[in-house]
Amino acid sequence: MENNKEMRKWLDDLDLPHPLVIAGPCSAETEEQVLKIAHDLKDTDVNYYRAGIWKPRTRPGNFEGVGAIGLKWLQKVKEETGLKTATEVANRAHVDLALEHDVDLLWIGARSTVSPFIVQEIADALEGTDKVVLIKNPVNPDLSLWLGAVERLYSADIKKLGVIHRGFSTYEKTKYRNIPEWQMAIELQSKFPDLPIINDPSHITGKRDMIFDVSQTALDLNFDGLMIETHHDPDSAWSDAAQQVTPAALVQIMKDLRIRKETDPEAEYNSELSNLRAQIDVIDNQLIDILGKRMKVSDGIGELKKQRNVAVLQSNRWNAILGKMILEGESQGLSEEFVLRMFKAIHQESINHQEKIINA
Ligand code: PEP
Ligand code: MN
Repeated sequence: MENNKEMRKWLDDLDLPHPLVIAGPCSAETEEQVLKIAHDLKDTDVNYYRAGIWKPRTRPGNFEGVGAIGLKWLQKVKEETGLKTATEVANRAHVDLALEHDVDLLWIGARSTVSPFIVQEIADALEGTDKVVLIKNPVNPDLSLWLGAVERLYSADIKKLGVIHRGFSTYEKTKYRNIPEWQMAIELQSKFPDLPIINDPSHITGKRDMIFDVSQTALDLNFDGLMIETHHDPDSAWSDAAQQVTPAALVQIMKDLRIRKETDPEAEYNSELSNLRAQIDVIDNQLIDILGKRMKVSDGIGELKKQRNVAVLQSNRWNAILGKMILEGESQGLSEEFVLRMFKAIHQESINHQEKIINA
């Protein structure tokens, strides 16, 4: 698969003055709930109304979706509000039902993207469709798995394609429900600059008060749109309650986001600049994170030295590290002077930590 401008025609044709917005509840719960939220979103920036009909749940016994009956509710949404509709499909039966009920946008969920068999089954079922098909990233941070899924759909002659970045699961506890690993999205964009990419801050954060910041970062990184879970009574939602926002909150978020329009050279320059700055911010956060991790390992060494009553400073080891890092630095275009200064600072901080531990 090669980058081609056709990929984003469906999006460009919408000629939106703002990023594409897909909003609606995590799950369709009742007909009243689906219609209530849709009417609340009718006269907003929302372009597609989402509702999960079949819900992939990590543990059995949780609410697994209302099933096919929900598709009738989505049809009513379209009739009553004019909103286009969107839902997740995870097998051939889902695809057939969704197409029968004229759902406008189908997405492949993160738990399906991990399985080439499932993705192929969905691609075969969708062959040649003129519906929009979006592919969520797989739950694990594997770019080729994500691209592989896109390629399977592309090969099935599906023209209106795009991806959704919903973050990745980790064993580590972080402030995110699914860590963004923005560099993966950046890499994907640089390989396929014309493949529309939508951010899903709801599943990345898992918390409604973090949605704005993640959405802003996504727009600064030139994402084409946002998928934000929206519910009239989020706390009572049957799934993903903590991350859903009210329709009013969604409208406020859209109003507060700095949205760049690339209309004049000045705006283009600014947009390029914020894009690069957002990349730097992502990397700086990673730097702090990794330095924190290094310090924790170093604390562990401090504990060991304390037990064995060994001196904190071990100059042989330190000189070996420095020599190696100067060479590594050189291969990355970093001067010896800079690498020395940086490692001295890191080393000093480690010594301070270990001193504290040994003398505690
Ligand atoms: C969803 O969009 O409600 C969903 C289940 O998402 P994901 O596949 O990203 O977990
Ligand atoms: Mn959800």
